[in-house]
Amino acid sequence: MSKVHVFNAGPCLLPQVAIDRSIEALKDFKGTGVSLISISHRTKEWESVMDECRALWKELLEIPEDYEVVFLGGGASLQFLYVAMNFLEKKAAYLDTGVWAHKALKEAQGLGEAYAIACSKDRNYCYIPKGFDIPADLDYLHITTNNTIYGTEIKTDMDCPVPLIADMSSDILSRRVDVSKYAMIYGGAQKNAGPAGVTFAIIKKDMLGRVSRYIPTMLDYRTHIDKGSMFNTPPVFSIFVMNETLKWLKGIGGIDAIHAIDEKKASTLYAEIDRNSLFRGTADKEDRSIMNVCFVMAEGREDLQDEFLAFAKGKGMIGIKGHRSVGGFRASLYNACTQEDVDALVACMQEFEKLHI
Ligand SMILES: *Cc1c(COP(=O)(O)O)cnc(C)c1O
Repeated sequence: MSKVHVFNAGPCLLPQVAIDRSIEALKDFKGTGVSLISISHRTKEWESVMDECRALWKELLEIPEDYEVVFLGGGASLQFLYVAMNFLEKKAAYLDTGVWAHKALKEAQGLGEAYAIACSKDRNYCYIPKGFDIPADLDYLHITTNNTIYGTEIKTDMDCPVPLIADMSSDILSRRVDVSKYAMIYGGAQKNAGPAGVTFAIIKKDMLGRVSRYIPTMLDYRTHIDKGSMFNTPPVFSIFVMNETLKWLKGIGGIDAIHAIDEKKASTLYAEIDRNSLFRGTADKEDRSIMNVCFVMAEGREDLQDEFLAFAKGKGMIGIKGHRSVGGFRASLYNACTQEDVDALVACMQEFEKLHI
């Protein structure tokens, strides 16, 4: 197999050491003679993985004491419902920055009063709306910090007069976050924290028990908090790989270290997009994501799109086709993607330019 460079938007590339450890555990989990996927989740060997994983989340993100960390199923998409179920009593606002944000809003509207406080659909979600007023009577404001499809990102922790809830599926663990500014943070693990099959939720304790509706057992955060994310059978394999991914991240220096690496990768690629006469970026510069870099052929060169895709494929580039709603290209530079991968993509763009000018 020749060298490939994986830029998939999700599920993401994961560190090789996490994959290797998972293969070992699939064969023999911690010397028990039993495979990880057959081990009882009621054993102390498994509970130690669960505890370690929870502790690593708290350590890496410096999560304050008055927050709970739970691991759930159903992906970020089910969190759209969970959030409204657990926190929407009278009225909630959503910042509509794209497809995922809109889906979150739609779920809330099925349960109560929820509306878009601002929206960037007028320019196909290529920017983050700013300067909107936040009414003080909201149950919460929901934001999507990184818009995976459009390559825009809210890169600072905003001051918010009402509880702030953030879908951080695709930029969690890529930058330092002041968790205390959020009432809740959640995401599917498969963009930057692990494989598909597990969802993380970080919840401020004082948010619980505020709504009057009946909450079905499985959709009540308190159920999962009380049982240490083991009310029902946890997705042991996904949690194990996520734990190994967090251990890798800690080993390379944690959030600040990975942020410096991520920033450098993104700035390398954006610099080439801005320099190369054949390409242009689609997101407004000030809102550019460091995780998902979206670009298209420059004006007048649109006819080269398929040729570039084929050219890049020939050079081992995987997963750079843009989402159908934006078109063009998208390179996702999640934590396990290396500077070397980005340099290879840049070299490929430069070579392609030489062939066409
Ligand atoms: C991928 C993604 C989702 C959906 O995640 P699932 O775990 O597949 O449900 C939600 N929000 C954002 C920002 C995403 O990138």
